[in-house]
Amino acid sequence: MAHQSIFGGPVFDMARQQFESVADILEIPDHERGRLLYPKRAMVVTCPIIRDDGQVAVFEGYRVQHHLTLGPTKGGTRFAPNVDIGEVAALAVWMSWKCALAGLPYGGAKGGIAVDPRLLSRRELEILSRRYMQEMIPFVGPHTDVMAPDLGTNEQVMAWFMDTYSMYQGRTVTEIVTGKPVSTGGTLGRRDATGNGVAHLIGRAMLEMGMDPRHATAIIQGFGNVGSVSATTLDRQGVTITGISDRTIALYDPKGFDVEKAAEYVAEHGVLKGFADQAEISPDDLLIQPCDILVPAAVEQVITGKNAGLIKCRILAEAANGPTTPEADAILAQRPDVFVIPDILCNAGGVIVSYFEWVQDLQQLFWNEDEVLERLYQIMDRGFDEVRRLAARKGISNRNAALSVGVERVRNAKNTRGLFP
Ligand code: GLU
Repeated sequence: MAHQSIFGGPVFDMARQQFESVADILEIPDHERGRLLYPKRAMVVTCPIIRDDGQVAVFEGYRVQHHLTLGPTKGGTRFAPNVDIGEVAALAVWMSWKCALAGLPYGGAKGGIAVDPRLLSRRELEILSRRYMQEMIPFVGPHTDVMAPDLGTNEQVMAWFMDTYSMYQGRTVTEIVTGKPVSTGGTLGRRDATGNGVAHLIGRAMLEMGMDPRHATAIIQGFGNVGSVSATTLDRQGVTITGISDRTIALYDPKGFDVEKAAEYVAEHGVLKGFADQAEISPDDLLIQPCDILVPAAVEQVITGKNAGLIKCRILAEAANGPTTPEADAILAQRPDVFVIPDILCNAGGVIVSYFEWVQDLQQLFWNEDEVLERLYQIMDRGFDEVRRLAARKGISNRNAALSVGVERVRNAKNTRGLFP
């Protein structure tokens, strides 16, 4: 970039540093790098709503579409207080490498609203969701940009998005978003897809390392859709879940938790606090307790230069996007005892089943759950094998191998299509 880019901040810097490391490994010449890294389009919209008290409140919304080279852009919508354009851009970049690694015909996108959805009533959440989608209509479409859930959004929000878009089109357009309820054009298997995929790849890593799930322990940070499904699926595979946490409390017990009960508790109370308060531990300490499998399943930048040397797991399974900083990666590079399943591989189950949902909606031909799961695991296994092979052949980390596959696929498509005009 000839001038200072608008995309910055700690999370975008992380995406940039990761990209530069991989571009060095792939020996991508400087003149190709800007075209690969910087987002194609970014939208900022203001969303005014009338609050329950009659006052007008204005929320800022974002959507970043990273590249249009392989097809429509694809990615979630995040409702969180600290969302900004730099974070959304980084998440869009990661979506691109993730989709390319999985072989999906998409570029990456991400969007969000700077809002704490827990502070809104249901009516306020609905009108804000609808207003955001209405503001985005000129920029999205089933063959342009397809949204999905992310932190702070869920199936209901996707149903409101789909309904709002459809009302403006004068017909039902289910293929405009994925992660919808099954009753409104969603696919079987999408809700649990990310967590299922995470648990599946942990299984692959355990197999490679000769670990028996029945003697393994896991700590899961984050108990939203991804964390809770990862925990319950691992639990069903025989793994003992010794640590769980959400934004209200962190819990650790070497004897293990009944995670099905924890999930029921959270479904009823909305938070983990109150479930087993006698096992409380500080959130920072939870991450450095001894365990076989550590699963950050919440936000970015939680494994850092400060704690990467202290974590005591054998497998670090990145269910969140961007949980590990480049400083932490440098430390982990000196720790061959830790097997990292990098985010763009580990949590790809969500967008893979989103792709299946989009395909089913376009064709109006719906699959059964076995078909969804079989195809999901096929794609995840292929990605895992590719990453492990490349990491071994080049002597690079799993993260650099995963990013290499993704970046190289996008680069190859760009170079084959050529630079217009
Ligand atoms: N938000 C999810 C992710 O970060 C899913 C995106 C999608 O399904 O499009 O991968």
